[in-house]
Amino acid sequence: MSRVLIIGCGGVATVAISKCCQVSEVFSEICIASRTKEKCDALADKLRPNTKTVITTAKVDADVKEEVIELINSYKPELVMNIALPYQDLVIMDACLECGVNYMDTANYEPENIEDEEWKAIYEKRCKEKGFSAYFDYSWQWAYKKKFEEAGLTALLGSGFDPGVTQAYCAYANKHIFDEIETIDILDCNGGDHGYPFATNFNPEINLREVSAPGSYWEDGHWVEIPAMSIKREYNFDQVGMKDMYLLHHEEIESLAVNIPGVKRIRFFMTFGQSYLTHMKCLENVGMLSTTPINYEGKEIVPIQFLKALLPDPASLGPRTKGKTNIGCIFTGKKDGKDKTWYIYNVCDHEECFKEVGSQAISYTTGVPAMCGAMMLLTKKWNKPGVYTVEEFDPDPFLDALDKYGLPRSVEENPELVD
Ligand code: NDP
Repeated sequence: MSRVLIIGCGGVATVAISKCCQVSEVFSEICIASRTKEKCDALADKLRPNTKTVITTAKVDADVKEEVIELINSYKPELVMNIALPYQDLVIMDACLECGVNYMDTANYEPENIEDEEWKAIYEKRCKEKGFSAYFDYSWQWAYKKKFEEAGLTALLGSGFDPGVTQAYCAYANKHIFDEIETIDILDCNGGDHGYPFATNFNPEINLREVSAPGSYWEDGHWVEIPAMSIKREYNFDQVGMKDMYLLHHEEIESLAVNIPGVKRIRFFMTFGQSYLTHMKCLENVGMLSTTPINYEGKEIVPIQFLKALLPDPASLGPRTKGKTNIGCIFTGKKDGKDKTWYIYNVCDHEECFKEVGSQAISYTTGVPAMCGAMMLLTKKWNKPGVYTVEEFDPDPFLDALDKYGLPRSVEENPELVD
């Protein structure tokens, strides 16, 4: 019996909230709070007839710490699930610390304004020292470790699919399958088709920032950075088929490099179709992916935000998307002195997701692990003060919960490897 505050009511949050309402014995009371309260009210009205979970709603601007604190103090939750945007991570963590409440999110911090001089100085120093240039990194949230430990509170970072489940797969491989993991390839395949020439499956700003940035991977104790989309491979995915995939930087590589002992190489690949890449390159070339405001006829406009307003709302892709996702990890390493290769993944069907919760599989594969991660904290299965990523907890109860609540795992011995 728990009371949980959920901040955000977009694509991912809608799934997480719908799933919480299927598990009323754990999520007995939830408050859905977001910038646009009407969206929270509409979702609450839709869910109430079919759940025992008591749902309330609230308006909050999570960029303003005082507003979050006021809401937490009036609702008094045990846990705050941050499923808004990565921009709000630090403000919500600060508010949780002030109010003595546990915290979780689905993506690590990055600033909304990358022109901010103070942030830029720290960012540029980090790029030089660490060797990768994504706008996001764990340093901001890892810096809260001591504060959460001292407060006796837990912060769970990145409990989506990737980051999130992929790290639980790594922890599972480390615990049960290998004596020593040598390489990890994380493969994220979306074989879905929504019928639009160009649309993003989750928040366009976050998505386009991620894929237009240089790629990087971890090898022999350091980062190797490459131009965006310059390493391409083909892979034959179970239940999806042959797809082109590209090496990207991805946040879980950073924490896995710290937490998987002895790992020599970690790479992340995501599939993209040619139409998506051609559109993205064109938008980038004309400046539409820029986050720097321009003045247009007396009004300040941020190009990528304007683009977001033009593109289909990711939530609207649900009814149109057909096909499957396949996301997982391929490991090489040693067991009992012998070479071993092993693949663990989940296949998720866009249309099945839509039938169940009214969302496509990208939101579903993130929203379900958000609910399951929250459940691990609320049922005290994951219970240690501090700031942690998913692979730092016991993967077994989390993977069991995922099997049960919609994201069952598949396993392949001796899989095709990525060269
Ligand atoms: P959406 O854009 O669909 O939803 C974001 C929600 O946050 C909206 O309800 C929005 O409100 C709300 N919001 C934004 N700013 C504020 C604010 N200042 N105060 C309060 N609420 C705010 O995003 P998604 O659902 O696609 O993504 C949610 C999160 O999940 C992101 O952090 C994303 O990076 C992460 N993610 C993680 C993945 C993983 O596998 N780990 C995969 C995909 C996404 P409004 O409706 O008013 O705009």
